[in-house]
Amino acid sequence: MLTKSFKLGRLFGIDIRIDYSWFIILILITSTLALNKFALQFPQLPFVFHWILGLFTAVLFFGSVLTHELAHGLYAKYKGVSVTNITLFIFGGAAQIANEPKQPEDEFVMSLLGPATSIGLAFVMAVIWKLSETLALSIPASIAFYLAAINLLLAFFNLIPGFPLDGGRILRSIIWGISRNLRLATQIASISGRIFAFFFIILGVTVIFNAGAFLEGVWLIIIGWFLLNAATRSYQQHKLHELVQHYSLNDIITTAFYKVPPSMTINQLLQGPIIATGQQVFPIYDGQSLVGIADIEQIKHIPKPQWEFTALASLMRPLEQSIKANLQDPILTVLQLFSQTKVNQVPVVDDGNLVGLASKQRVINLIQTRTNLKF
Ligand SMILES: [Zn+2]
Repeated sequence: MLTKSFKLGRLFGIDIRIDYSWFIILILITSTLALNKFALQFPQLPFVFHWILGLFTAVLFFGSVLTHELAHGLYAKYKGVSVTNITLFIFGGAAQIANEPKQPEDEFVMSLLGPATSIGLAFVMAVIWKLSETLALSIPASIAFYLAAINLLLAFFNLIPGFPLDGGRILRSIIWGISRNLRLATQIASISGRIFAFFFIILGVTVIFNAGAFLEGVWLIIIGWFLLNAATRSYQQHKLHELVQHYSLNDIITTAFYKVPPSMTINQLLQGPIIATGQQVFPIYDGQSLVGIADIEQIKHIPKPQWEFTALASLMRPLEQSIKANLQDPILTVLQLFSQTKVNQVPVVDDGNLVGLASKQRVINLIQTRTNLKF
């Protein structure tokens, strides 16, 4: 889900990203607003205005979603949990929190803040709506009414008690607080998430066949399918987190790696013994100093006939510009880095200095051993 996104900007130290799937929903909401709302309410306006108002309102709606996610993200940051980014995608927004909250109370407050913010926004919009109506400002009134309704809907949808929705996280924090067992709490909240997902799917099918509302039914089924996927995936993510949480990058990095000179050609590298060790990232040293990093992905982009003459110096990148991990990063964050970038090995830096290489395979081995021995 996170691989097809771009960075929009940075707010309060958190990267704001847009997934390409978001444009589908932007177009859908803009056109629905233009054709089914503004065109009917203001038929005297030229149709271009309907589309401008539609786009303006859709952007404000996404501003509301972003505010909701920022409420989660900023509280997580305040509690010392690192927030990787906030991504807007087809079903709304998601704050990527690198770690699980440490206390059930933290998760309870963090999850509640999002829907509370949406209800707050709905209230502000309702006030603007009433004021505009009194002043006979029909366009602002129409926009504010829509935003009040959609924020209220956003709050209630997110309060559905199925993990990983906010309501599911609230449910999990309560069970966690009572039982002091995070795994059990996650399991119950995920099952609840799947039950609600099936409910949406069955409701969608019923709406199609009994009420004949095809589009609404399809939407309900899509939402149910999304919830089902999310519940399953976040439970797996939690299990993965449990398996690696007591280990640090220091435990899995390779410090004994091959260093290569800048003059070495691609052919010399590939025909030598280095490849057999599984090394895929090549730190390039001029004497004692590191001058750059080359990797398998960069070599892939050089046409094969040129391998004989191409020196690694001509394709290397400075360490600062390479995909890399920090020694302090949680293993789960580095696993996400592997899946987002499609690379299987990254340089690891500490205080700006190269200290080793982290491989996806090493993490997989650790997970397999722990799963195998069930410890
Ligand atoms: Zn939320």
